Amino acid sequence: MMIPESHPSGSLPELARRQAEPARWREALHTTLLAWYREHGRALPWRETRDPYRIWLSEVMLQQTQVERVIPYYHRFLQRFPDLAALAAAHEDEVLKAWEGLGFYRRARLFHQAARELVGEGGQVPADPERFRRLPGVGAYTAGAVLSIAFGVPLPAVDGNAFRVLSRWSGQRGSRDDPTSWRQVEALAGWLVPTQAPGEWNQAIMDLGSLLCLPGARARCSACPVASLCQAGVQGLAAQIPAPGRRSPVQERVLLLGLLRHGGRVLVRQRPAEGLLAGFWELPGVELPAGQPVGPDCLARELQGWVGLPVRVLGRRLRYTHRFSHRLWRVELWEVRLRQADPGGPALPVGGGFAWVKAGRLAALPVAAAHRPAMELAAQEAADEDQEDEEPLQGEEARPQAPPVAGEADPQGEEAGAGAGHGDEEP
Ligand code: SF4
Repeated sequence: MMIPESHPSGSLPELARRQAEPARWREALHTTLLAWYREHGRALPWRETRDPYRIWLSEVMLQQTQVERVIPYYHRFLQRFPDLAALAAAHEDEVLKAWEGLGFYRRARLFHQAARELVGEGGQVPADPERFRRLPGVGAYTAGAVLSIAFGVPLPAVDGNAFRVLSRWSGQRGSRDDPTSWRQVEALAGWLVPTQAPGEWNQAIMDLGSLLCLPGARARCSACPVASLCQAGVQGLAAQIPAPGRRSPVQERVLLLGLLRHGGRVLVRQRPAEGLLAGFWELPGVELPAGQPVGPDCLARELQGWVGLPVRVLGRRLRYTHRFSHRLWRVELWEVRLRQADPGGPALPVGGGFAWVKAGRLAALPVAAAHRPAMELAAQEAADEDQEDEEPLQGEEARPQAPPVAGEADPQGEEAGAGAGHGDEEP
């Protein structure tokens, strides 16, 4: 990765050329914004350290997620995994358990993979942009934010917030979905980033975007320290700049889950290692397109196939909806029973990540928010049954290995946290 001490071509970036005196404009922005940031910047836990691991963790957690939501997760995660070595040594289930409820779980898995990669090379976070960018989950934004803040590397950090701020400063009207607009803003950001205090500069832009330069008509230009240096502020165009991005249509699906208990155990399944909610545990079920008549028969057929014994569906126990970034699940939990007793108990389903798990162990499994109401009901009721005598099962609890850990889109629709935060959000 190039370090943009000056613009790559040696010439001014397109958006800086719109200023009457670009060099003075840049200097005035530096002076004014940094002074404002030093007085009004947010006091955040990851700003009290220069530990690159902690700064990196904060940037990963802040992707697509608001600061207030991240703070308790940040503290809990660091208690459990205080450094790269501790994170690298953990089982993926433990990492997902610590991330449970924060959403966008792919970022947690990639962060874990990156820690393992680095521990194999000596256990240090690299200050070299080229090396850092090659780590799993690290894009231009994360590299710029982490390396500028932790090591003072003069790199820009352009996410959705910074794109909005820089577009307004320069009068760039295109939306963030437009690759040309994004490239132009990145070029401007690279030209603007100072060689002194680049981390403070990037954080000052983040704070301006979060506190004053808010999206749409919520921009607070009258309170803004750089209003006289901002095209949108001077012209009263903040509400129009930048143009709004595309909104992906929300896909609606029905998810039928089966609560099948036997001998104090519950049938659960781990999702595959890739894809939506990868690696999380859930009650088994079927996902169907919304808008079509759905009944529990298809759920019964699937469960029968999985356990190798006839089942009957008793009734619906729970209904709720769960919203992902671009997907809406209408979840129904159905009570299911085995039709006949099998002297050896039901067979452990072969493949597919299935397991019969004792009620007391359900709470230790990492469970995504979309499945938590159903799993919690299963755990509660099975715990009551656990008081009764247990029957032996074939293939008892062969798979779940998650140790008990305290605490709680990908673009295709991982569970959303609470709104936009930072992130590698190139179009
Ligand atoms: S003047 Fe308004 S649009 Fe410009 S940076 Fe400040 S808040 Fe944003």
